[in-house]
Amino acid sequence: MAQGDSSGYRKKQISMRNIPQLEDVNTVKLSFNRHLHQTLVKDRHVATKHDFYMATAHTVRDKLVGNWIRTQQHYYKEDPKRCYYISMEYYMGRSLTNAMVNLGVDSEMEEALYELGLNLEELQDQEEDAGLGNGGLGRLAACFVDSMATLALPAYGYGLRYEYGIFTQAIRDGYQHELPDDWLRFGNCWELPRPEFTIPVHFYGSAELDGWQNTQVVLAMAYDYPIPGYRNTTVNTLRLWSAKSPNNFELGYFNHGDYIKAVLDRNLAENITRVLYPNDNMMEGKELRLKQEYFLCSATLQDIVRRYKTFKSREGGPSRTTFDQFPEKAAIQLNDTHHALAIPELMHILMDLEKVGWEEAWDVCTKTFAYTNHTLLPEALERWPVTMLQKILPRHLQIIYEINARHLKAVTARWPDDLDRVRRMSLVEEEPEKRINMAHLAIVGSHAINGVAAIHSGILTRSVFKDFFEYCPEKFQNKTNGITPRRWLRLCNPGLSDTISDEIGEGWVIDLMKLKDLLPLATKSSFLRSVLKVKKDNKLKLKEYLYENTGVTVNVDSMFDVHVKRIHEYKRQLLNVLHMITLYNRIKANPGVPMVPRTIIVGGKAAPGYYTAKNIIKLINSVAEVVNNDKDVGDCLKIIFLENYRVSLAEKVIPATDLSEQISTAGTEASGTGNMKFQANGALTIGTLDGANVEMKEEMGAENIFIFGMTVDEVEKLRSDGYVPRKYYEANAELKKAIDQIHDGFFSPNEPSLFHDLTNHLLNHDTYCLLADYEAYIQCQERVSEAYKDQTKWLTMVVRNIATVGKFSSDRTIQQYATEIWGATPCPPPKETKTDAKMAPVKTAPVKAAITKPLAKSVSKQKAKA
Ligand SMILES: *Cc1c(COP(=O)(O)O)cnc(C)c1O
Repeated sequence: MAQGDSSGYRKKQISMRNIPQLEDVNTVKLSFNRHLHQTLVKDRHVATKHDFYMATAHTVRDKLVGNWIRTQQHYYKEDPKRCYYISMEYYMGRSLTNAMVNLGVDSEMEEALYELGLNLEELQDQEEDAGLGNGGLGRLAACFVDSMATLALPAYGYGLRYEYGIFTQAIRDGYQHELPDDWLRFGNCWELPRPEFTIPVHFYGSAELDGWQNTQVVLAMAYDYPIPGYRNTTVNTLRLWSAKSPNNFELGYFNHGDYIKAVLDRNLAENITRVLYPNDNMMEGKELRLKQEYFLCSATLQDIVRRYKTFKSREGGPSRTTFDQFPEKAAIQLNDTHHALAIPELMHILMDLEKVGWEEAWDVCTKTFAYTNHTLLPEALERWPVTMLQKILPRHLQIIYEINARHLKAVTARWPDDLDRVRRMSLVEEEPEKRINMAHLAIVGSHAINGVAAIHSGILTRSVFKDFFEYCPEKFQNKTNGITPRRWLRLCNPGLSDTISDEIGEGWVIDLMKLKDLLPLATKSSFLRSVLKVKKDNKLKLKEYLYENTGVTVNVDSMFDVHVKRIHEYKRQLLNVLHMITLYNRIKANPGVPMVPRTIIVGGKAAPGYYTAKNIIKLINSVAEVVNNDKDVGDCLKIIFLENYRVSLAEKVIPATDLSEQISTAGTEASGTGNMKFQANGALTIGTLDGANVEMKEEMGAENIFIFGMTVDEVEKLRSDGYVPRKYYEANAELKKAIDQIHDGFFSPNEPSLFHDLTNHLLNHDTYCLLADYEAYIQCQERVSEAYKDQTKWLTMVVRNIATVGKFSSDRTIQQYATEIWGATPCPPPKETKTDAKMAPVKTAPVKAAITKPLAKSVSKQKAKA
């Protein structure tokens, strides 16, 4: 099927726009052959599918490097104010298709590969996801670097090159198992090791009068990743650090002659970047995690200061660098408090190494840093024990204490009689254990603090950061999240992209507000038919994937009702389960009564140590087992747990979705970005008034979204009045039956008490108010089914969703960061000139085209064998 579908798409792409030039196609083929032979050292008889992917990837990579070099040279010459984005996570997914789309070579690549007898889609699936993130926060950083390059901002992403990204999830017997994500096993042609940029990072030792002494060093080695803008000349750098042991590591062993042990122990230092912590929205207070956070901050700040000093030394002037211009040359955005240590680190560099005084150094810090808050969940807020900081970063703890002393002095001056306020605003918490509140540190050390959706930013200033808002209201801002339209529409949904471009042109890819031009088409039946056809094609493709990967056959005429995101109690996958069971019980009570058929798909990873989330996965699989094997249910309801949800799988699932589930308890999801991806791909949303759902509703109008449940204020009131979940259980017979079935082992007959912890928690605590929202949710789902029956009305709503998604482009978000926080402007490098081209070392002797038609045969032979 993939073959037929994609070649159909290929024909359309090639016949209607971007007609590849024959020369281009031939150049691609030459380059492909050259890489297969010279880089991979294979011929077509022994080359694997992965080799073909690698040869393709190298061919595309070659097209990036010229602009990459030119962009970096241009920044060096112009020395504009740089934007630095620091993040512990970059959930990049795959690079090949992204690079092709952004370079504008996708059609010629596809044509060339086709002529070589290769299928681009199959090759794409050979690439491992760069899974250096957990969920929304890491994916946001990935969307942001794409937008920064597309807007031609002189920007850098800084992060860690984990050797193991987010674990691979395997479902066995309904339970989640975690497998290591050995993503670098086959090499990675999208990274460039930069051993010449290796920076010492210090740990331990002691804080002395003249700074930090007797430390242990770990080296940070840079790996650079090219970030191409969309069809412009900008290629920015994402610099990820990898821990390397210095040659004198564990010198003691060398001295005692235990050479072997000394070499083996080099691994200890290199463990720092071994693995990504797999928690989403949850702080894990492990020493290794603290070391990771500091390792990133220190290497990055040293690199930024080095770049600044290069500029100052070129400028001439006094022999010792002055730092007064630093904030004019660097804006540093901290993606959550994971990098709050960047603040004392810059203080340490400026004072201890550059001999700047406290006042001036502090002024530089607060003008340079800005902090983004991503969550209100108390278990996610970072508070590091003082004992741990004392041991690992004694000098930084000392600096933090000094920051706090000066900060509290200022607060006391403002509110001399309000000791309790001073205590609440301290960076140091005394009870139950002495800890540093990293959010307070980030706020005090930054000039801007932002939430990630209007409702979230509002709650921040009214609750957790109320005291700080009263103290310095001018620092608080909102920057509603966004997603990149390149990956999340143009790349993942070529069918819909073409349908849109046929009507309004291609400008929407870099100016998503242009989708507004689709509004008049919401009632044009020929357009609705094309949108419907694209959705149906995408559903057919997902059906194949589901069959191959789960063995379940789904009905493409059923509503694809999709709930994919990390598994977390606040995201309320359990509420979805209660709906599944309710539908099932209704079918059983009245078998044969017509209903709107649904395929309910849930996917997502649970943190390995998150007991309840893992139970929820098992429950979904248990319910699916009963429902999918019940003859009375037939085609009316299928339940699928989607294994190993990740970026590349999101790209397959979201374009095939009819209904997007965004049902977190109001006040818990800071923004959500999954919600926006679905809207862009023509799914309707069922959701609460939480995060960016609120703004999505404003953009599209209440009549185009299915909103249900309590508001933030209502949740607050319910809790303060004393929430008794059992009352809702007693009052609703269908709810009671569903919970009783889970409790009594109806879905787990071999282990009847398997889900007691889940049901007991629901009935006695229900932290996220599922029972209080149950009835509203079920009724809202009934409205969804009614709407789905009227396909014309549904499609009209779909088009109005797509047409109003413009606000949620990460280009808009980044534009606001650039003007309202960073004070940065675009710095586009000039187009390649003739002299550049002459200098470019890419012109090598042409290799004879060894592979044309014969390869096509050998590939189809391989296929036949497989
Ligand atoms: C977008 C995305 C997320 C975030 O989804 P939310 O629904 O906003 O939590 C998580 N994981 C992946 C793979 C994503 O692409």
